[in-house]
Amino acid sequence: MPRTPATRRYHAFGQYLKDLYGQPVYKVNVDAGFTCPNRDGTVSVGGCIYCNNDSFRPSACSGSESVSGQIVNGIPYLRRRYGAEKFIVYFQPFTNTYAPVATLERLYREALGHPGVVGLAIGTRPDCVDEEKISLLQALAKDHFILVEYGLQSVYDRTLQFINRGHDYACFKRALSMTTGRGIRVGAHLILGFPTESRDDMLAMADELSRLPIGFLKLHQLQVIRDTALADRYASHPFFTFSYEEYLGTVADFLERLSPDIVLQRLFAAAPGDILIAPVWNRTRSEFLNDLDALMEKRGSFQGKKYIPS
Ligand code: SF4
Repeated sequence: MPRTPATRRYHAFGQYLKDLYGQPVYKVNVDAGFTCPNRDGTVSVGGCIYCNNDSFRPSACSGSESVSGQIVNGIPYLRRRYGAEKFIVYFQPFTNTYAPVATLERLYREALGHPGVVGLAIGTRPDCVDEEKISLLQALAKDHFILVEYGLQSVYDRTLQFINRGHDYACFKRALSMTTGRGIRVGAHLILGFPTESRDDMLAMADELSRLPIGFLKLHQLQVIRDTALADRYASHPFFTFSYEEYLGTVADFLERLSPDIVLQRLFAAAPGDILIAPVWNRTRSEFLNDLDALMEKRGSFQGKKYIPS
């Protein structure tokens, strides 16, 4: 039987928002036209080796249209299809704090000014925040849901070097400590499956993140995407990628070790088939989530089952 977020065996973001607002809250993705210091030469020109922004930019949003235009286009569909009344605007592609603070304030307030918008989710790099930007987010967080999602990808510096991330784990921890205790919700983004890590290394990241003051986590499998440096490497030196069953089991193990307080925003990636090289599973997100719940139920498993508070 298909599960609903309320019956999942982990703390799911959709249910978290529903509990907070008394009704479902829907995401409206926007592309505010930001770039990335890891691609424009400020940190590096190559970018992260797996990065192809087409794999995470929904076709409905485009950096050439204003933030307001994208929201005005996005909301009516959600209202019609789901009866949606409350929305979080998700600043997703590239690095969404990579601009002067006055520009950020204009864009964020523009988004928050739309009827029904209760907050923002802002994806960024940990080396692209400073005290001034965090103070802006703190001010906005007094009246709105403000979630900053820091791309981390791995807690291991050898992996961060391998993927040309352009920052180390200590940088993430500095950003986290700058953001914590300011009324801003803080999340991290991790990828499982880098060839620099064993399965035990990957699972140990659940213990490590559970010790940090993060409230939210996005997790997904490594995907080799066309036209990336990782795709070149995969062609010249093929490496292990998860089978569907292996990834399901790894996520279940990871969730058992993760603090039950951390809200899961994502557990699965689904790049378009025309750019995905590996692993190819032909599964949808909802199929994955249902299979994960079935597996966890069969194992008597739940988020935090093996979590050891420090
Ligand atoms: S930080 Fe994000 S946008 Fe920039 S290169 Fe890495 S994955 Fe791509």
